[in-house]
Amino acid sequence: MSNIVGMNRYDFVVVGARCAGASVAMLLARAGAKVLVVDRQEYGSDRLSTHALMRGAVMQLNHWGVLNRLIELGTPKITQTVFRYGDEAVPVAIKPEGGVDCLIAPRRTVLDRVLVDAARSAGAEFRFGVMLTDFVRSDTGRICGVLVRDGDGNAVEIKTDMVIGADGRQSQVAKLAGAEIYRQGKHASASVYGYYEGADFGGSQWYFGKNTAAGTIPTNDGQTCVFVNVPASQYSETFRGDLPGGFLETARANSADLAAQLSEARLSGKLRGFLGCPGYFRQAFGDGWALVGDAGYFKDPMTAHGITDALRDAGLLADALTGTSVHDLALYQSWRDVLSAEVFQITDKIASFDWDLPAVQKLHHRLSSSMKSECEYLGRVMQTPNLVAA
Ligand SMILES: Cc1cc2nc3c(=O)[nH]c(=O)nc-3n(C[C@H](O)[C@H](O)[C@H](O)COP(=O)(O)OP(=O)(O)OC[C@H]3O[C@@H](n4cnc5c(N)ncnc54)[C@H](O)[C@@H]3O)c2cc1C
Repeated sequence: MSNIVGMNRYDFVVVGARCAGASVAMLLARAGAKVLVVDRQEYGSDRLSTHALMRGAVMQLNHWGVLNRLIELGTPKITQTVFRYGDEAVPVAIKPEGGVDCLIAPRRTVLDRVLVDAARSAGAEFRFGVMLTDFVRSDTGRICGVLVRDGDGNAVEIKTDMVIGADGRQSQVAKLAGAEIYRQGKHASASVYGYYEGADFGGSQWYFGKNTAAGTIPTNDGQTCVFVNVPASQYSETFRGDLPGGFLETARANSADLAAQLSEARLSGKLRGFLGCPGYFRQAFGDGWALVGDAGYFKDPMTAHGITDALRDAGLLADALTGTSVHDLALYQSWRDVLSAEVFQITDKIASFDWDLPAVQKLHHRLSSSMKSECEYLGRVMQTPNLVAA
């Protein structure tokens, strides 16, 4: 047996050290709890995901005191987004509201690391390269610990009464707990993205065309994340055999200008593809366990709202577990579902690609008003005056 965690007992063991896991660990540790986080991947590693953050996410990062660190690390401020529906351009200025005056899109190597650092500063312990394999149960069947496998292949038992699964879509915690999916989306988009430098993409741009979408997001190190989306059913015919060719052609189908910019730009690293997965809501808690982030609730990436929701739900769950405002785990699940319902439905509709350009524009108006309500809710929860973006 390895001595990675000795014989300590933890109030909470969190599985997954990314936006959901690191945030909930930070909040619980700040409330005085003894928290251990395990993740099978390495500190600061990348994840298959673009990373556009909506206002709700920026508000929370600001409220938690980590936004400045992200800006210090060279995350560019986004003060305008342009939605392009065919030839029609709709610029949207990011107004100062809810204490923030910009959006951001930090690389996951930056965002997840900053959240881990903040959780560590609050007293949470982290072990990377460590994988959850099983729950440990008492004679009565109640969870009383977890079994993990460390980087050397050693099995280690860790004592805890509460396991938090922040371990993403394939959640092992959800599997071990038997957490059921009780609502599922019908549609899924596939996406391919990469990081480019050496060309002017015109900042944050979101393109929509027939059966396709694309976008450019300014991020760290002077790079722009460029992505394209197609219906998941069309991934093979669009990209298989020639990922760069399919990527460029999909970009061109959205905008000739975007294709021209890509031809001038240098790709840093490789293009990465996501085959798509319909959204779902999973049972969020049980005796001795809870789920947060994608482990419990996922929606198609086309509305770029997963991280924003993961941060919100980390806050709700920490409140539920520390009895601050959401008094129990059943209320945590109810709040999560109520706050997510409309964005989930709109996202599923957008991922269907069953729209023309005026229709998708209407869906974006609905999404925008839904996000406004979400920000009003977050503003009330935070109750912190005079928040300043950076
Ligand atoms: C292609 C794509 C593009 C996206 N674009 C955006 C976007 O622009 N904006 C946005 O807000 N969202 C986006 N999302 C969604 C976003 O990536 C997720 O919502 C977010 O990553 C959820 O974070 P999480 O912390 O819940 O889980 P994850 O980021 O999935 O992290 C789970 C962690 O758990 C660990 N883990 C898993 N199993 C175990 C185990 N057994 N033991 C130990 N550790 C384990 C993993 O190593 C991982 O580090 C996108 C998603 C995809 C796929």
